[in-house]
Amino acid sequence: MSTEGNRTKNRLLGMPYGTATGRLRKMILFDLLRQFDFDHCFRCDQQIASIDDLSIEHITPWQGADDPKVAFFDLENIAFSHLRCNIQASEPANAKKDHCPKGHPYDDQNTVIRPDGQRGCLQCRRDSSNAWQKRNRRRRSDYERMRYNRKH
Ligand SMILES: [Zn+2]
Ligand SMILES: [Zn+2]
Repeated sequence: MSTEGNRTKNRLLGMPYGTATGRLRKMILFDLLRQFDFDHCFRCDQQIASIDDLSIEHITPWQGADDPKVAFFDLENIAFSHLRCNIQASEPANAKKDHCPKGHPYDDQNTVIRPDGQRGCLQCRRDSSNAWQKRNRRRRSDYERMRYNRKH
């Protein structure tokens, strides 16, 4: 695409074209999440009410995975959360506590060190990924049934 063409698009949109397409994709995603009732936070289980609150994260940090590229693109490893919950989980202040926010101990068995150096609670991770995956498996099968019905 020519630079001239991009300049026209930027002017028409009032922002860089790349920013606009990124925003559009996020809007489509958020709309689908709402339609299919996927719009709950992986960390706190509350509804994600606004698109500004939506963050997409990896359940298991991909950078420390055996195969980072596979972990990065694995859709089963993707979860949605509130931006604040995501940020809170990686806040340096949390590193000094002996317990996770839900009171599970940060001991040898229950603690993982994430690639960014923060501690994570294994019990919480297990609890939330189980609950999240159980719910999403059900929703995903509803979604697939609907897609199937549309085609046939
Ligand atoms: Zn949350
Ligand atoms: Zn915990």
